Amino acid sequence: MKRTHNLLSKNELDRYNRQIMLPDFGKDGQKRLKSAKVIVAGAGGLGCPASLYLAAAGVGKLTIIDKDKFELSNLNRQVLGWQRDIGCSKAEVVAEKLRALNPEIEVHSLVIEITEENIGELLQDTDIIVDALDNWKTRFIINAECVKREIPIIHAGVSGLYGQIMTIIPGKTPCLLCLLPETPKEVSNFPVLGVTPAIFALLQVMETIKLIVGFGETLTKKMLLFDLESMSFTIIPVEKNPECPICSHLKK
Ligand SMILES: [Zn+2]
Repeated sequence: MKRTHNLLSKNELDRYNRQIMLPDFGKDGQKRLKSAKVIVAGAGGLGCPASLYLAAAGVGKLTIIDKDKFELSNLNRQVLGWQRDIGCSKAEVVAEKLRALNPEIEVHSLVIEITEENIGELLQDTDIIVDALDNWKTRFIINAECVKREIPIIHAGVSGLYGQIMTIIPGKTPCLLCLLPETPKEVSNFPVLGVTPAIFALLQVMETIKLIVGFGETLTKKMLLFDLESMSFTIIPVEKNPECPICSHLKK
């Protein structure tokens, strides 16, 4: 991520003091977060906790995209949707709460479905996209356009007590299509405990912050699988498919 010369205000120095104290972070890291533009695609079980912590950390521009409204059955995991928000647009409710949490940052909401037609425009001014989606069709639309524009994707998917996460850096790591040449079957209404997406969402935030600030190791060229039933983490190496129709032409 580019270095910037955005100055931090006294309020910002105070608000982010405890993370600025981190040796790998400092004021420079905070300035990088301030100039970063991140899209959170999906304001559900992953998107609510992810956007909350991205906002708290001070990512300068956040765009929350979700076409749906909160329903009662969402509230066990979509923690920015409260009882009073049932029937209201998820993206708008989440954005409003993020603004209340952190007025120093810019938060936008888009109540739309991500499609092949609009994805190019959506990604025009974005550094990173957090895949907080619940369907493969949209994930592959994002994957294709992000590879084209060389925008990193922080992918996560959960079900029940299981989940997976990996960071896609086009050209450097496998893309989603490298690993899944056949689109997996879409499953709606799968069982899930709120804790599962929350854990993966926060891992996504960690990956996002590390990429922006530029420290530590990230889940690039590897996928983390977490089974919360047995509390076992597994990290498996993943490789680019040299025949991938989407990303094989990119070399880094
Ligand atoms: Zn690929």
